[in-house]
Amino acid sequence: MLFAVVAFLLVASSSLADPPAGSNALNSVSVGVPMNGSLQRGEVLPKKGTGYVLTKSARERKARFGVLELVMLIKDAAHKVSRKHKGSILRVADLSTRKGGKIDHHGSHQNGRDVDLTFFMVDKQGAQAVADTFVPFDANGYSVDPPMEYRFDTRRNWALMEAIIKSRRATVQWIFVADHLKKLLIKYGETHGAKKSVLRMAEQIIHQPGKKSHWDHFHVRIYCPFGDSPECRDVGPRWAWVK
Ligand SMILES: [Zn+2]
Repeated sequence: MLFAVVAFLLVASSSLADPPAGSNALNSVSVGVPMNGSLQRGEVLPKKGTGYVLTKSARERKARFGVLELVMLIKDAAHKVSRKHKGSILRVADLSTRKGGKIDHHGSHQNGRDVDLTFFMVDKQGAQAVADTFVPFDANGYSVDPPMEYRFDTRRNWALMEAIIKSRRATVQWIFVADHLKKLLIKYGETHGAKKSVLRMAEQIIHQPGKKSHWDHFHVRIYCPFGDSPECRDVGPRWAWVK
C-alpha cells in the first residue's frame, strides 16, 4: 500500500513538474520520417507574430503546420532575435501541411519537424532588407541573384543560429546551409564572444547536405519530440548532448 502511494506521488510530481510535450493525447504527433511521414493534430503557425511573418508561398501552399515543439521553437527564436536586433522580422517559409505527407518542392517536410527560414540580409547602405523569395549568397556574403544587391547579415543570422540551438522548446538535429555560409557564421561566433559549448554544437548542427545546396535559405530539422515515439522515427546522427 505504502509502495503504491509513493509510486503514485512520484508519477504525479514528475508529471506536474515537467509535463513532457507530445505525451498529451491532444498534442501533435510526428509520424514516420521527414522524407516519408505524416502529421497528426498539427499545430498551426500564425501568419505573423513577434519578430516573424510567414512568406507568401508558405501561406499559399498552406505549409504552416508542425509539431507543437517546432512551432514554439520558431516563435521563440524569432522573438529572441527581434529583441536583440530591433526591427528584425524573420521570414518563415514552408513547414508541413496540416496532415503532413508529400509536399511540392520538398523531399522532406512531411511530418512536422522541418522548416525553411529565409536569411536575414541588409542592403547596400547596411539597412535591414527583405525579399519575399529566397536570395542566394556567395562566399563573400554578397547576393548572387539579384547580383550584389544585398549582403548576408551574418550578425543577425548568427543570432538566429544561437537562438535555435539554445532554445529549450525543441531539440535541433540539423540546420542545413551551404558550407561557405556556415564558415561566415562560425567565424562570426568565434570573433564575437560566442560560448565554446555553443560553437561546438553549431559546428555539428549547421551542415551542408550534398553538393552546393542551401545557399538561399536555412532548413531546420528537430528530433522527434519526447512522447511521439514509437510513431516518430529519427534518422541520422544523435548528437552527444541529446538525451
Ligand atoms: Zn527545407
